Amino acid sequence: MTEPQKPHPELIHLECKACGRCVEACPRQVLVMGDELNARGYRFVVYLGEGCTGCGNCFYACPEPYAIRVHTNRDEQA
Ligand code: SF4
Ligand code: SF4
Repeated sequence: MTEPQKPHPELIHLECKACGRCVEACPRQVLVMGDELNARGYRFVVYLGEGCTGCGNCFYACPEPYAIRVHTNRDEQA
């Protein structure tokens, strides 16, 4: 039996415009603005790797339709 995945954000770096809204919206403060640039010349947000609860705040705060997906262990246990 496979371990259920922990909740985590999936950040599509190419779509990020570095607005910082998801960083502000995250109650666990597990998203940070990186220093590198994506292929479009924007910095992009990265996940610290631990602590996400899958609340979805970052997804709803992001104005870019394809920049964030949130994986919860609810929808991936089936
Ligand atoms: S789903 Fe919630 S806890 Fe997880 S990174 Fe997004 S805002 Fe933070
Ligand atoms: S809200 Fe979206 S576009 Fe803005 S920094 Fe976060 S991932 Fe990037």
